[in-house]
Amino acid sequence: MKIKSKSTIGKALKHLIKKHPTPEIEAMAIDLAIDCIGKANNDTLTNILIEYLMGDHDGMPKDAKYLFKLYLSLKKYVEAAKTAVLIARQEQLSGNYRDAHNVLFSMYSDLNKENIKIPSELYQNLMILHSYVLIKIQIKQNNHLRASRLLCRVAENISKFPSHIVQILTSAVIECSRSGLHNSAFNHATMLLRPEYKDMIDPKFKKKIESLVRHPERSEIEEVATPCPNCNFKLLEYGLTCPGCQINIPYCVVTGAHLIRDDFTVCPKCDFPALYSEFMNFLESEVNCPMCSNTISRNDVKKIVEIDKYLKINEDKN
Ligand SMILES: [Zn+2]
Ligand SMILES: [Zn+2]
Repeated sequence: MKIKSKSTIGKALKHLIKKHPTPEIEAMAIDLAIDCIGKANNDTLTNILIEYLMGDHDGMPKDAKYLFKLYLSLKKYVEAAKTAVLIARQEQLSGNYRDAHNVLFSMYSDLNKENIKIPSELYQNLMILHSYVLIKIQIKQNNHLRASRLLCRVAENISKFPSHIVQILTSAVIECSRSGLHNSAFNHATMLLRPEYKDMIDPKFKKKIESLVRHPERSEIEEVATPCPNCNFKLLEYGLTCPGCQINIPYCVVTGAHLIRDDFTVCPKCDFPALYSEFMNFLESEVNCPMCSNTISRNDVKKIVEIDKYLKINEDKN
């Protein structure tokens, strides 16, 4: 569309944000309005569109994804990131974890492309959601110890999964006792027997959970320690904050464990880091990157030696 003048755009906007006969037409009109306003870059018109999207005109707030798109097209990344976190939170509350993951991932990629600092709430939420997504993947890979570590991480953030608390804790009990993390299994089982959850436990597992708490076994396989990629301090494999140098260490897209300097790669499609050996193993039986879902060929995965730029998360990238 050729943009003529502000008043022409103003008139066009008025037509685009009126009441539309069907949701499909409304969606098309809003997309067009966002496109126009993004190009026009005029504060008055932008505010009119924002008010419309917030529902100030007709008391009907529009889907928050439009607001996100608008901020993105105006290059207002801070506002866009805040909106993305908000949208993801709504998806997460309704139990749509994959959708929430995808919203945050695409926002993360957009910010990264523009060299904008990743807000820490966005980073943390994506990490937790990705850990959740990886549980199934690790179980499918028959790696129950990794699945247990991830379940422990997710269980520590269980308030972010309000509609699946009992299911997640139940899986945590089962996977942890199966992998020899008996103390963790006991802790999750104890939580499940709280009055607010007890009656929601699947009857198939209730007896086992009760007996775990009645006859506790507290032994626990020790977590391996691996070196921090920044300072070499040896910390727990699934620890993401280094006690040695205090940085947030990026996690592997396949295992969720922290990264290691001499076993480092990135997904050739989304540039998210991974443990080289784990990514290669994973691609023997799978074809899609767990983070971006793109098809990846093993030939394109290269070991990376210069890793310092990947360690600067949540930092200004200048
Ligand atoms: Zn360190
Ligand atoms: Zn990827």
